[in-house]
Amino acid sequence: MARSSGRSGFKWRQLVKALRQPGCVCWLCGHGIDLQAEPRTKWSFSVDHVTPLSRGGDPLDRANARTAHYGCNSSRKDRMTGPKQATSRRW
Ligand SMILES: [Zn+2]
Repeated sequence: MARSSGRSGFKWRQLVKALRQPGCVCWLCGHGIDLQAEPRTKWSFSVDHVTPLSRGGDPLDRANARTAHYGCNSSRKDRMTGPKQATSRRW
């Protein structure tokens, strides 16, 4: 599969825009997300994927996308994939 990461481009931006709504909550901890928070800080907005991309999840499928805090998102990811770049395995 020569598909690129998907976390860029027009469709990705559309998805982020659709998800980034006032009152959205983090699906991992259940608390509200501060859309004004500095990007890439613990409580800022990010998009998480129910089925990680490394496991074949579709990055652009709205049904696979959830809003999450940047901090919650990255700590979850650490747990699930272990050491960094465990995903660069070739099939
Ligand atoms: Zn959270």
